[in-house]
Amino acid sequence: MQLIYEKSVPGRRGVKLPASDVPVAAALPAALLRTEAAGLAEVSELDLVRHFTNLSRRNFSVDTNFYPLGSCTMKYNAKVLENAAVLFAPFHPMTALLPGGVEACQGSLGMLYDLGQMLADITGMDEVTTQPLAGAHGEMTGILLVSAYHAARGNKAKKKYVVVPDSSHGTNPASAAIAGYEIITVPTAPYGDMDLELFKKAMTDEVAAVMITCPNTLGLFNPHIKEISDIAHSHDALMYYDGANLNAIMGKVKPGDVGFDVVHVNLHKTFGTPHGGGGPGSGPVGVKKALIPFLPQPRIVMDDDGQFLFDAPRTASIGRTANFYGNFGVMVKAYAYIIMLGRVGLIRVSEQAVLNANYIKERLKPYYDLPYDMTCMHECVFSASKQLAHGVHAIDISKFLIDRGYHPPTVYFPMIVKEAIMIEPTETESKATMDAFIEVMIEAARTAETNPQALHDAPLTMPISRLDETKAAREQNVCCQW
Ligand SMILES: *Cc1c(COP(=O)(O)O)cnc(C)c1O
Repeated sequence: MQLIYEKSVPGRRGVKLPASDVPVAAALPAALLRTEAAGLAEVSELDLVRHFTNLSRRNFSVDTNFYPLGSCTMKYNAKVLENAAVLFAPFHPMTALLPGGVEACQGSLGMLYDLGQMLADITGMDEVTTQPLAGAHGEMTGILLVSAYHAARGNKAKKKYVVVPDSSHGTNPASAAIAGYEIITVPTAPYGDMDLELFKKAMTDEVAAVMITCPNTLGLFNPHIKEISDIAHSHDALMYYDGANLNAIMGKVKPGDVGFDVVHVNLHKTFGTPHGGGGPGSGPVGVKKALIPFLPQPRIVMDDDGQFLFDAPRTASIGRTANFYGNFGVMVKAYAYIIMLGRVGLIRVSEQAVLNANYIKERLKPYYDLPYDMTCMHECVFSASKQLAHGVHAIDISKFLIDRGYHPPTVYFPMIVKEAIMIEPTETESKATMDAFIEVMIEAARTAETNPQALHDAPLTMPISRLDETKAAREQNVCCQW
């Protein structure tokens, strides 16, 4: 495929803009003014439309194929939610800050307030900030809140550690380390969750927080969660819940009810917003009462007359974590998603997501090793260790799936499972789609035994075969020829 620059013809135009009536030179420093033309591709509108449409057809997306990428919750995002976000597009984020702006923006502010209330209800928390822009950003915000909490109680120097099970998402220890904590990692027991005895040994009064991905990255819900919370609290440590994937537990269990003090959720996984190159994210953070004074500002509150306004500045606040209100459009989509489904709908989402994951787990169990053989939540984790006996790795199976029109599952994660294959079907897939996928997975397992080379050769249908994936991420060359 040609690059857009190779289609460029001097003088060809797609649009004709009117002359600017803004005196640019007056507003910008001379050093910033361009002295030469930008050297953009000169193409017609049709050239441009074809170029980007053809590029988009090389993209893999939930809208085109099954995308069982574990931990990422690649569910179908209803288009009506995009319409809802567009309704709010004309409002400039500065509007509320202008004189009379708060009165003019009651609808938008009320939407943000209501979304916070609904997320607080779903997670069992007392208050929610919608500012963080992603899951990891929510974690960072949450850990800064933990830090501020201990500092306010005079324990800043004493609280040095964050305890993280090795089945937690990798962003958990990373966020805690960036926030200045040392990490204590607790291994997973044969029952698929943090080893309770080792956890007890790790806990001291120097632990600031216990950070748990729940369900964990093996797709399992920790049955000892209440006991773990009680132990953590007895050491004055706070409980952090990574709720990036809330898909298995909505309406079933509230993190706040089992002892968690801080939780983040990913609106771009569970709550109807595309991600993975599909758009911006949002990682709201919910907290229990004791942490409310430290929340980022401004916060939207409701006065006695039902008017929405910004709360008064507080010195205890950790400050802003994002411009304005966070990624506003994402919040509109999440709000519309929750309203559209309602309480019963959200419960059904969880039930269907868990049922689908268990269906795939049971049907593939005879063909792939299942290191933790128990009822899973929204995802299941296999190992390609049986296939490895024939020299076939998880990566070979994923490349084979690409040739059959499926996005590969997450592979080599979680790292505690050798040759991991992590499958998350989500609630939006039909039995027929899952059955077709299962047949291809079975075909891959059979091919591993009969013709391993065929798996090593895959993919055969793509413009590029196998990339050096590390180099592709670190030394991007978007100009390579296909
Ligand atoms: C995706 C994910 C995160 C990180 O979310 P981002 O929005 O990618 O920063 C954290 N924890 C878990 C369990 C996740 O699945």
